[in-house]
Amino acid sequence: MTLFAAIAKTLAQAPQRRCLTTRNDEPWLARDLLKQTEHIAGALAGLGIGAGQRVLVKYPKSPDLVLLYLATLRLGAVFVPISPDQTEPETDYILTDVKPHLLICHDHESAAFQKRQSLVKVISMARLRNSPPAPLPSQQATAEAPAAILYTSGTTGRPKGAVLRHDNLLQNAKVLLSAWQISNQDRLLHVLPMHHTHGLFVALNPLLLAGAEIVLRDQFSARKTLEDLARCTLFMGVPTHYARLLQQPELAHTELTQIRLFISGSAPLPKALSDAFFAKTGQRILERYGMTETGMLTSNPLNGKRKAGTVGRPLEGVGIRIRTPSNTRIGEVEVKGRNVFSGYWRKPQATREAFTEDGYFKTGDLGYFDSEGYLHLLARRSDLIISGGLNIYPAEVEEAISSLEGVEEVAVIGVPHPDFGEAVVAVVAGNIVAPALATIKAHLSGRLSSYKHPKHVVKLNALPRNRMGKVEKHRLRQQFANLLTTNPIKF
Ligand code: AMP
Repeated sequence: MTLFAAIAKTLAQAPQRRCLTTRNDEPWLARDLLKQTEHIAGALAGLGIGAGQRVLVKYPKSPDLVLLYLATLRLGAVFVPISPDQTEPETDYILTDVKPHLLICHDHESAAFQKRQSLVKVISMARLRNSPPAPLPSQQATAEAPAAILYTSGTTGRPKGAVLRHDNLLQNAKVLLSAWQISNQDRLLHVLPMHHTHGLFVALNPLLLAGAEIVLRDQFSARKTLEDLARCTLFMGVPTHYARLLQQPELAHTELTQIRLFISGSAPLPKALSDAFFAKTGQRILERYGMTETGMLTSNPLNGKRKAGTVGRPLEGVGIRIRTPSNTRIGEVEVKGRNVFSGYWRKPQATREAFTEDGYFKTGDLGYFDSEGYLHLLARRSDLIISGGLNIYPAEVEEAISSLEGVEEVAVIGVPHPDFGEAVVAVVAGNIVAPALATIKAHLSGRLSSYKHPKHVVKLNALPRNRMGKVEKHRLRQQFANLLTTNPIKF
């Protein structure tokens, strides 16, 4: 059975149950979601989309996006979501890489896309709704067939498409449903972006599978979240969300006893933050760990000791080992299981390099297991920056900044930040007057999404380099570790 077939079965069993609550608090019943999904799937089929064809979706977070996701799965086509905020060059890179059979975008973007992308068929959601439907295929996809491609990146900074199979998604959804005991009594407050594994797979699949209700919000707002939490039972967030909630004086007076589980992931949840949240609310946040390529890998227990500062134990069916270089227990986390992706889209070499000879995926994260079997993550092997739960690849930002007149060399690093987890800092060097932060931001606007812009600029005479001429970023990170913790940015 595929994930879609399993979800459709749940929806059909209780057609009157509320499964989505939209921005205007309009309820969608299970039967509406199923019917509309079939309608959109039919319209896609009418446009010639079928099994294995790639559907690139650049669309704002909304119930429509849920429909597009489910309709694509229903057809056995491949769902390729990208952020609605991606800039033109970012989108063009992915378009060229994934070569979709269809691009679905918001009405206001479709004319611009049509002009730029003569080789790709483009349709707006509004037109798709009214397009003549074709009958749906009776056969659903096989477990081994690709279901989605999610763009991520390694150290090179160029995004890579992680190909996830139907089996990967179903397996992980079932495991999470069971680990967190999600049921049709649950109501999840959904504040995450829906083009990323966290908001798309973790926060949708197990909930839909269980027949739970998803309260969909366009984005996170601390004040609104506190109001919404009053009628929810589950919350999934990134550490930045928890830091922002803690800044709300109303948190102390908000009734939270109906929330049975606060979950955090996508970036390290500092122990101090977890403890402060516990002290204020009496709720111990459950931290879990996963990746785009692998789905969720570990979780602190629902019942039992939740250890702040750890990401818990391996989830059912997930094999995890630590590849240690020598006599140390710290090493790279390697993983195996039905949840692990099949490879990078049209990147056979990157795929080969990502796996060990005996089939374990090399996560690039460094960590160790403690004596109770809880995994501690220490650092990423690469220089990936995670700010507010969003990934930023330094090479991409460096490339953009170095095109600014007067910049001789630049290194972009992540430094600890009390709110964002990490913040982007640009270190510029050379015999120049360092450009002001505002100048850099103005230069990047339109080139890179704003969350990738530096929060701070520092000037050095020269960047530290090793004998091979490579910039030693770990030294920069050490040097500037307290730059923004002692002098946090105010909002
Ligand atoms: P992504 O593929 O965007 O989900 O990013 C995956 C990376 O996020 C992982 O390889 C980790 O480095 C990091 N990550 C995810 N969850 C956690 C967590 N709970 N603690 C620390 N790092 C995490």
